[in-house]
Amino acid sequence: MSMRFEHETLGQRVRFASDAAAEGVREEIALLGATKVMVIAAAAEADLAKRVTADVPVALIHDDVVMHVPVPVAERARAAAAAHDVDAIVSVGGGSTTGLAKAVALTSGLPVVAVPTTYAGSEATNVWGLTEGARKTTGVDPRVLPRAVVYDAGLMLSLPVDLSVASGLNALAHCVDSMWAPSADPINTALAAEGIRALDAGLPLVVADPEGLPGREQSLYGAYLSAVAFASAGSGLHHKICHVLGGRYDLPHAPVHAVVLPYVLALNAPAAPAAERRIAAAFGSATALGGMQALRQRINAPMALRDYGFEESQIPDAVEAILLVMPESNPANVTPDELTRLLRSAWEGAEPR
Ligand code: NAD
Repeated sequence: MSMRFEHETLGQRVRFASDAAAEGVREEIALLGATKVMVIAAAAEADLAKRVTADVPVALIHDDVVMHVPVPVAERARAAAAAHDVDAIVSVGGGSTTGLAKAVALTSGLPVVAVPTTYAGSEATNVWGLTEGARKTTGVDPRVLPRAVVYDAGLMLSLPVDLSVASGLNALAHCVDSMWAPSADPINTALAAEGIRALDAGLPLVVADPEGLPGREQSLYGAYLSAVAFASAGSGLHHKICHVLGGRYDLPHAPVHAVVLPYVLALNAPAAPAAERRIAAAFGSATALGGMQALRQRINAPMALRDYGFEESQIPDAVEAILLVMPESNPANVTPDELTRLLRSAWEGAEPR
């Protein structure tokens, strides 16, 4: 069979070395020639940020970070950057922190050096997100792609195990959804498969030994691959569902991804045999769902949307909203009844079928 595809690779330097973030950040800031750096880090990430920016010329530390980047929060950060006339941004934190740095870069063009402390993967994508009221808007813009990412698994040691598990499954969702996303191609699916393998190896180690580096390194490497795959393949059904749930009902990002993923896999796998085999092989399991469920059990994954603030009465409204954004590329033809069943099962934490 002939092979034909178009694939864009995003330009970004990635440094990966445990316990070397301060050195990596110093070198990246020197390469940019920056002399007035804005450090963005949430309060919970302040100590990590202090450590990794010890050797750079910091003009301003900004800790006003809120999940999903509300527009007023973005405006305040943009105003602070302008008032201090900064020439680069270092973000130290999870997806919310990286997201705020991206919001500043979007309007100012300032270069960002991202130091991630979760497995969310925003640092490796050119996707920005902002929320206005209950409406979450996302877009793609080359200005928001961080110039460099400094990965240091040592910074992950303080991420509590439950957050690590949810965040790691958010990364797994990037990989699995990439298999059938609108721009899936041989390159991003290869990265996604290797991401699944690395996360399947790393996350159980994180749970067994949260203070150990090997599990953190494998998981972080998998999270990076997952984000590169996702940035290239685009949003599939899983991301569309989670985007609606997170944005419309203000649910926590990573746990929602962690809960919904096996239900989307169960729905799509029969209609996508090649993806099913690929995912199963990456898990080293007979079936894709079997591999995923074995991992979820080992790491005590989040089980039900009702535990995270989603109400059963919101299902019809969610179904309506999801049907409007259903990707044409989705392998299974999803009816309103099937979507209702999926959300009900995810709401109560029933066995995915
Ligand atoms: P988060 O950034 O909100 O972090 C969760 C919590 O963990 C926060 O309280 C944070 O301060 C804390 N934390 C982070 N790292 C820590 C560490 N090492 N030790 C202790 N505490 C730590 O959550 P998230 O799941 O990383 O990111 C979610 C956000 O990222 C959402 O808004 C989502 O839309 C966005 N996102 C965007 C993209 C993209 O490509 N644009 C991709 C993935 C996620």
